[in-house]
Amino acid sequence: MQYRKLGKINFEVSALGFGAMRLPGMKNPLDPRVDEKEAIRMIRHAIDSGINYLDTAWPYHMGASERIVGKALQDGYREKVFLVTKLPMFLVNKKDDFNRYLDSQLERLQTDYLDCYLFHAMSAGALDKLEKFSFIEDMEREKTAGRIKNIGFSFHDTLPVFKKIVDYYDWDLAQIQYNYLDTAVQAGHEGLLYAAQKGIAITIMEPLKGGMLANPPGEARQVLDASSVKHTPVDWALQYLWNLPEVSVVLSGMSTMEQLEQNILSAENSGIDSLSVEENNTIDKIITIYQKRILVPCTACKYCMPCPAGVNIPANFAAVNTANTKPVTFMDRVMKARNKRVYRKMDKSRDKVDKKNPNGNASLCIECGKCIPLCPQGIDIPTELAKVHQVMGKRKKPEDVF
Ligand code: SF4
Ligand code: SF4
Repeated sequence: MQYRKLGKINFEVSALGFGAMRLPGMKNPLDPRVDEKEAIRMIRHAIDSGINYLDTAWPYHMGASERIVGKALQDGYREKVFLVTKLPMFLVNKKDDFNRYLDSQLERLQTDYLDCYLFHAMSAGALDKLEKFSFIEDMEREKTAGRIKNIGFSFHDTLPVFKKIVDYYDWDLAQIQYNYLDTAVQAGHEGLLYAAQKGIAITIMEPLKGGMLANPPGEARQVLDASSVKHTPVDWALQYLWNLPEVSVVLSGMSTMEQLEQNILSAENSGIDSLSVEENNTIDKIITIYQKRILVPCTACKYCMPCPAGVNIPANFAAVNTANTKPVTFMDRVMKARNKRVYRKMDKSRDKVDKKNPNGNASLCIECGKCIPLCPQGIDIPTELAKVHQVMGKRKKPEDVF
């Protein structure tokens, strides 16, 4: 495993961090539960392989993530990791909520302290809340008490808001969404440099843009195949990040042992300024291809779920993005045909939709607007779902609708 500086924090961190947001699921894809036994096996294998940064949060897997991480960290594993969780800023509504959540999270995680506690999903609105309830005071009190070792935030908003938050406090760590498609999205490259030059440790989430970069369209695959340097699509995306000196740790939400093994191998081969001119040029070409294709920038984080009308929001956006792929290879054509079938098989009747395990198509949206403030990508979900149905349900051309 390669280790890197964690900003001004005195800790050598593994280049790869374990994100406990996409833990392995049950065999039935409609069963929303985590395969707990496999998740614990994966987390412990990650730690045994040298990964020493573990990231979770209150809402991940509807609360199951922190509990499972807590179980995985028994038997001497807790002391081997830098453990991070987050105060859910979208749920706190009063001063006392800080202690209420922190107490519950320490209990779920079966630990006396967090190596870093983040304000989750900071935005302009969340900063107002943080100020209103003076939550920095709570953070500092708990830091003095030893229940929190470092203070940070994760972020989803625009670059000016990011700079304002960075300047607001002497943070130890900032977690940002970043990948080769998102260099000008949210904090972006400018924000990354801005925070890093203040000594703030930068941890990266969404390195694969919700899995999108793991499955490049055929046109992009042809570019990758033509390169004399060979990487898997995931490795291309990860090496792009590790190439940057400002990046401390790349968080990957791994769902299978195979993904974990592959990412560990990638991390072992990583390095700062290690990409050649040819590799950088290849990535530039892929970016151009992807940019033509993405209709809705959904990262499948599922913060918007469950939808009260039973719409499977991320699945609908994935379907329309796949539909917009130009088929180049035989597999592209197979994927497009399969994609159409997937949309046809989604629930289209309000009476029959299973609201506990929602798999409704875009036409079921009742435009209640509940999901809009929950989306860290700022997607106007009901508006975009209406367009999805025009393309997937009414067979209109994407270019005529989006
Ligand atoms: S606006 Fe539509 S997709 Fe969003 S929560 Fe309401 S019904 Fe669901
Ligand atoms: S629509 Fe937004 S909140 Fe919902 S899964 Fe996609 S990115 Fe996440």
